[in-house]
Amino acid sequence: MDRNNRFSALFAQIFTVIALCWFSVSSAYAQSLIRDTEIEETLREFSEPLIRAGGMDPKAVDIYIVNDKSLNAFVTRGQNIFLHTGLILESHTPNQLKGVIAHEAGHIAGGHLVRSDYGTRSAYGSMLIAAGLGLAAILAGEGAAGSAIIAGAPQFGTLEVLAYTRVNESAADQYAAQYLETTGQSGKGLIQFFEKFRYQEVLSNSKRRPYFRSHPLSSNRIDALREVVDESPYTDKPDSEEDVYKLEMAQAKLRGFLDGQQSVFSRYPLSDTSDQARYARAVTYYKGASLKNALNEINALIETDPENPYYHELKWQILYESGRGEESIGPIRKAMSLKPDAPLFKISAAQALMDLPSNDKTEEAIALLKSALVTEPKNSAGWYYLSQAYGKAGQEPLAKYAIAEQSYAMSCFHRSLSFARRAKEDLQRGTAQWRRASDIIVISETQLAKDKKRARQRCQ
Ligand SMILES: [Zn+2]
Repeated sequence: MDRNNRFSALFAQIFTVIALCWFSVSSAYAQSLIRDTEIEETLREFSEPLIRAGGMDPKAVDIYIVNDKSLNAFVTRGQNIFLHTGLILESHTPNQLKGVIAHEAGHIAGGHLVRSDYGTRSAYGSMLIAAGLGLAAILAGEGAAGSAIIAGAPQFGTLEVLAYTRVNESAADQYAAQYLETTGQSGKGLIQFFEKFRYQEVLSNSKRRPYFRSHPLSSNRIDALREVVDESPYTDKPDSEEDVYKLEMAQAKLRGFLDGQQSVFSRYPLSDTSDQARYARAVTYYKGASLKNALNEINALIETDPENPYYHELKWQILYESGRGEESIGPIRKAMSLKPDAPLFKISAAQALMDLPSNDKTEEAIALLKSALVTEPKNSAGWYYLSQAYGKAGQEPLAKYAIAEQSYAMSCFHRSLSFARRAKEDLQRGTAQWRRASDIIVISETQLAKDKKRARQRCQ
């Protein structure tokens, strides 16, 4: 479907400008982020107690999923933890994954970050994610806000911001053991994880295991960790069944999205009717355009657990992206009723409502997007869809304002400046959006004056 036909010339113009932004970024950076409400929630549940045990505020620590098969995790300034999909998939137990997360949290708590030229950029993490989501939406044309694989975080190539030394590594291990004990969990997972991949230290240049290039392992280090872990009263405490299930479901979903169909079917053969297998197959069928099979699998899952919001969300995605937008509205409404606070659900619902031929639901779409953007004010895809919704509703000044916000979220300051100026001219003086447009003008001008080259590099 060509959206540009459905919107005014203004939107055709905006689309072109943003599409250019995407191409320049994509050619320079290959790595990508994944947004998925369910997996993010599982990771947050695994991480929050550990972060709290480290004396940090879980709300101040952002966790990002990097679409990369290699085994890696790292932290950056601004308290961001990045976990590769390879790490999530190769963790055999929740405890192993939690061990690595605890170790990374230890790096943050220990202040192991070196100075970098990004030091002055405060909203660094949210900038990354905002860029990602927006660009994916543009790439897809329609955009997938459900389980989206997102491309092009512009700064990824230069993220070597941790001082990896043996001293820091050992300190982070000790912190990790402490956090795990404080939260009544075993530290054995981290040791298992290290032992499983110990030989990688020898192959330190191996591309497959960057984690151990940056986190050097030694037998002394593992011994020191084991000493502490063995003393913990929780050393033999197993993972809860619930945590095991959540990790397996996250892995099944990721495999469905990331692996080829053959690989999914060999791991999850049709004879396997577990939730995990059905979940992976539902996704791989949908990706392979086998709509009927995908629906069979997801409907079977919904039957077993009708209150699971993520099943309904996946059903929305299957239908919506198969061109059955109107039918997809029921499932996403159900998902929202089961989980009213998820911003990505709201954005998904808004997409489907805006695609309806009539304008009846446009106001509802606008309300949903505005609500999602309260929770994620830097979600550039949300701003992009909001601009489209305003356009559909004939509110062009607000549409320009939303594009200014979207560009600002992506740190495309010359574009945010241009659209904020145009919006300000047309918006009613003194309104919230008029004031915000004025702010964006000032901030964008300042950013451009400060570092014109970088501001342009980021999105030409
Ligand atoms: Zn480390």
